Amino acid sequence: MQQIAAAAAALEGRTRILVFTGAGISTESGIPDFRGPEGVWKTVDPKDFTLRHYVTNAEFRRRRWQRRFGEDRREYRPNAAHKAVADLWATGRMVGCITQNIDGLHLDGGLPPTALAEVHGNTRGIECVAGGHRHAVAAVRRRWLDGDLDPQCHCGSILKSTVVLFGEQLPMAAVNRASQFSGGADAAVAVGSTLSVFPAAEYLLAVADRRHPLIILNMGPTDADELATVRLEGKAGDLLPRLVDALRADTE
Ligand code: NAD
Repeated sequence: MQQIAAAAAALEGRTRILVFTGAGISTESGIPDFRGPEGVWKTVDPKDFTLRHYVTNAEFRRRRWQRRFGEDRREYRPNAAHKAVADLWATGRMVGCITQNIDGLHLDGGLPPTALAEVHGNTRGIECVAGGHRHAVAAVRRRWLDGDLDPQCHCGSILKSTVVLFGEQLPMAAVNRASQFSGGADAAVAVGSTLSVFPAAEYLLAVADRRHPLIILNMGPTDADELATVRLEGKAGDLLPRLVDALRADTE
């Protein structure tokens, strides 16, 4: 495809590529995005995902724990696009990956933790809303299985997963890492994001602001299309492996 060749040409000689990913990279793993045609916002009220709603609604919390620990919980696997990000990392031409996703699939796809900034947290850890006390997932699951359906922290406050809810601060370690990746990048590739969530999108736009090449791979329009050096329209699981193959050929 001509556009893949154009994107690879735009990235020629670049050795600190920032990969910036959104919910669209995980739809082919079976996780719906927020704003795509089958997006979560078509059926769920965004207000349900505020910290205030979580803290004040015990029934909602019980449903979340049920979803996490119950028998009908779903397991997701990384897809070809997650693996392509890890492959790009392995070529040594990537500064790191900033993801808005909370699903942990970049790590399952083979990207090392030090190469990843999960700026909206992830579903893997558990902490309390007051002091940020961390809890071992296995221990909380044990308590839940023993009938504690809305588990609390030893400090008396409510427990939640380490996902950033609306109204919460972004996790400091991820923010620091994202700033480092963004500041050190000499090109950027955005995958599966409408680029409409801030401050996350700022890490990507800062790279384009420095006049470095920006590749946008997405199904459908994004808020930053006019800044793209090359725009790839289509599925991440199809196009990203082809782009990474082209870059690998360029490296060898
Ligand atoms: P978004 O929903 O705003 O946009 C996703 C974009 O990806 C849409 O334009 C959609 O058309 C496109 N897309 C869908 N499937 C695709 C595919 N296979 N290939 C290429 N493009 C595809 O998502 P966003 O910009 O990431 O912002 C939404 C927020 O949603 C983020 O804050 C994130 O934390 C959260 N979120 C995360 C997950 C997850 O962890 N998997 C899922 C839903 C939402």
